[in-house]
Amino acid sequence: MPIVSPYTNDKINLHQLSIFKHGVCTVCGKPLAECTKVYSGKKKGGEYAIVCENCKDKIETHVAENVYYRQEAEIPACDTKLWRYQDFSKFVSLLDSGKLFFTRADSFDDPFECARGFNFQKDAVYSEIEKYLRLSVKTKLMDAGNNHPSDDEIERELKKEMDELVKRQEEKRKEYFVSCWHENERESEGMWKLYTSALSQGVAIQTTVERLCCSLENDCFEIGKVNYVTFDKPLTETQVPVWYKRDVFAHEREVRVVIKDSAYTCNGMPVETNLDTLIEKIYVSPTAPEWLAGLVKRVALQYGLDKPVEYSRLNDKPCY
Ligand SMILES: [Zn+2]
Repeated sequence: MPIVSPYTNDKINLHQLSIFKHGVCTVCGKPLAECTKVYSGKKKGGEYAIVCENCKDKIETHVAENVYYRQEAEIPACDTKLWRYQDFSKFVSLLDSGKLFFTRADSFDDPFECARGFNFQKDAVYSEIEKYLRLSVKTKLMDAGNNHPSDDEIERELKKEMDELVKRQEEKRKEYFVSCWHENERESEGMWKLYTSALSQGVAIQTTVERLCCSLENDCFEIGKVNYVTFDKPLTETQVPVWYKRDVFAHEREVRVVIKDSAYTCNGMPVETNLDTLIEKIYVSPTAPEWLAGLVKRVALQYGLDKPVEYSRLNDKPCY
């Protein structure tokens, strides 16, 4: 059976397949072992596959041969429901532009975006790197003709190099562009309040992991659940900070799409998005006037989107 997206009726591409079937061989279904070889390409008949060593003969046209590493952030299941709560104006802006806006990591309100820990843990964060840098600084001074650099000279040069390294690490935040989503099977009262400037103007779009991944006209992204941590211990060198946030944000249950691009210099990246694929349902806020629900439906239709518009269930009448 070819893997076909139910939303676009298209065969999904290799990148999407690697997300939806992350960690398993698409032929035998067995989990891929960390650090083993994986082969991707097309099977007879043109269908994409990502396979283990045992199944590599099943691939007729090889595309790539890689070593398998489990992605740092857990990839949610295809049918996981994702939500974006926003003001009506932002909703219209999305329809009008047809683009999802990816915020550059250093532009978020949270200064801990892409942080490895607290400032007071700086020495611990950089201790390993410092060890290597100390050796290279000594070699550098000797190469420059100073055959017996003094401890003072080494320390001075090391401090200079460390300062530059810290600055570079901070600059690295500018390479990450992020689209944030709230994972939930149902609506969340808290999210309505958090992400609308006036609750009565709130509109939420609901999608799924599969819809989101199939809707983006850019294949250079990763998707995953944010890991919430206390930072009691700073992140290690091998951990990628964009996938970690402080546990004070755990209520956001964030799934994020991340694009890494060091060449793009704007503080946000609009990404072409197929909105018909993206949007499954539209919800209007529990305190929205009735006319807003009608308006949301009509505006969506004007942009060619015939999607169910539902009133927030938080509005349902109680029975005592
Ligand atoms: Zn296999």
